Amino acid sequence: MFPSTTCRHNGCGRIALSNSDWCSEHLPDVEAHYAWLKSHLEATHVFIDLDVAGLTLSDLDLSGKEFRTSRFSGTRFSNCNFANATFYMCFFDGSVHCGTRFTSTEMQNCVFGCAQLIKCDFSGSNIIQMNFNGSTCEQTSFSDSDLLHSRFIASSLTDVDFVNCNLKEVLYRDSIRTRVNFKYSNDEDAHFDLPEVVR
Ligand SMILES: [Zn+2]
Repeated sequence: MFPSTTCRHNGCGRIALSNSDWCSEHLPDVEAHYAWLKSHLEATHVFIDLDVAGLTLSDLDLSGKEFRTSRFSGTRFSNCNFANATFYMCFFDGSVHCGTRFTSTEMQNCVFGCAQLIKCDFSGSNIIQMNFNGSTCEQTSFSDSDLLHSRFIASSLTDVDFVNCNLKEVLYRDSIRTRVNFKYSNDEDAHFDLPEVVR
């Protein structure tokens, strides 16, 4: 996974974007790259090793698409729709989302570490073994979802709904939770605090 081409810019060690020799910061022709990306996203159904790290994606309908081993690290999403999409081993670390729709998705082993999720909707999804550690979630719903073995360690959750969810072995340790709703969920099967150290 992930072809290891690095950016051609002198001294830049970042991984190059898909269909480019450059990272998002050193793209020589930003407009041309976005034009290619837009048509590629529209025309393709299954993406493997897609790399759009650090780019900005706005008002895109990517519903029902499949993403495997793809990199969205530091990508900024505004009003994008991933309803009914599938994600496997994808990296969203440090990404920023405003109004992203992830409803009825199948997600496994993806990383949203230190991501910002504002007004996002993950409801009705299978969110299995996912990493939301250190993320900031506001006005976001995970309701009616299976979150088996997912981790929200040291996350900040404000006005977040986990209504009618499977929370078996979900880790919320060291998280800051304000108006988080666990109604009809098995939060007794989740873990909220670090185990006591016995000396
Ligand atoms: Zn670069």
